[in-house]
Amino acid sequence: LAQGLSQLRELPCETTDGHRIDLWVNTALLADVKRALDRGAEGVGLYRTEVPFMMRDRFPSEKEQLAIYREHLQAFHPQPVTMRTLDIGGDKTLSYFPIKEENPFLGWRGIRVTLDHPEIFLVQVRAMIKASEHLNNLRILLPMISGPQELEEALRLIHRAWAEVREEGCDVPMPPVGVMIEVPAAVYLVRELSRQADFLSVGSNDLTQYLLAVDRNNPRVAPLYDYLHPAVLAALQTVVNGAHAEGKPVSICGEMAGDPAAALLLLAMGFDSLSMNATNLPKVKWLLRQISLQDARELLARVIRIDNPQVIRSTLQLKLRHFG
Ligand code: PEP
Ligand code: MG
Repeated sequence: LAQGLSQLRELPCETTDGHRIDLWVNTALLADVKRALDRGAEGVGLYRTEVPFMMRDRFPSEKEQLAIYREHLQAFHPQPVTMRTLDIGGDKTLSYFPIKEENPFLGWRGIRVTLDHPEIFLVQVRAMIKASEHLNNLRILLPMISGPQELEEALRLIHRAWAEVREEGCDVPMPPVGVMIEVPAAVYLVRELSRQADFLSVGSNDLTQYLLAVDRNNPRVAPLYDYLHPAVLAALQTVVNGAHAEGKPVSICGEMAGDPAAALLLLAMGFDSLSMNATNLPKVKWLLRQISLQDARELLARVIRIDNPQVIRSTLQLKLRHFG
């Protein structure tokens, strides 16, 4: 098995009829990076930058952030590293920046916090851009965007940070900026958002929670939380079609991407890349190399006519069993 895995590491994620899809990893700490490289990841689709913030007792300075980001970018160079700007609020709070709310998942989180505190946002983006000097493999990803105005405001700040960094003598290109599609409103605005952004990435963990109105961490409603719900699948297809209609690549970085059964559907929908935990990557790659895009599309066509998530899951399981 170990030998099989190391051979698999060198192989592209390509279907039997020659369709390529990039497999990326989600990271949080430098330890994840080594594991990801060992497993043959082709880049980082989601670096959760709030994690190093959560491990401190104060905001890391620009210099401290620069060092952390540089390590990440260097480790993966020349492959892309998609750094999400601070996504605090919801279930992720900082001891030194407490947020107390009735409904934190519907409250002050992600881009809402950082647009209200441009000083926090600018320091982080400056550190990211500086860290990318001579490497140029940085992509910036914005969490919890619900419409074009937030994106415009964030882009304005990122341009400002870039201009400042260049004035200080750093020779760096403007990094690509992408939008997370995880608030249902963004699904309906996908064409507008795609026009302004360089890429999209679906956060299926939050998108599922918000589309189904089911708290992703509440065990009582856990059986209702299902990314194979037909409404979630319909939303995902809308996002892919919208991004591609504007000529922009689209990825998905929620837990769903690392579930082999779901990955079959995501491939068929037309996602350009899947980003997952390093642990699941070899499994997903192995499976997608067994199937043809046409076969996956036929499976998707069958599945989207089913209205029961459990029946969808068992249909997919049956298909997986066919591959062993
Ligand atoms: C998501 O919402 O799917 C996602 C990838 O981000 P997080 O789990 O960090 O909210
Ligand atoms: Mg999210």
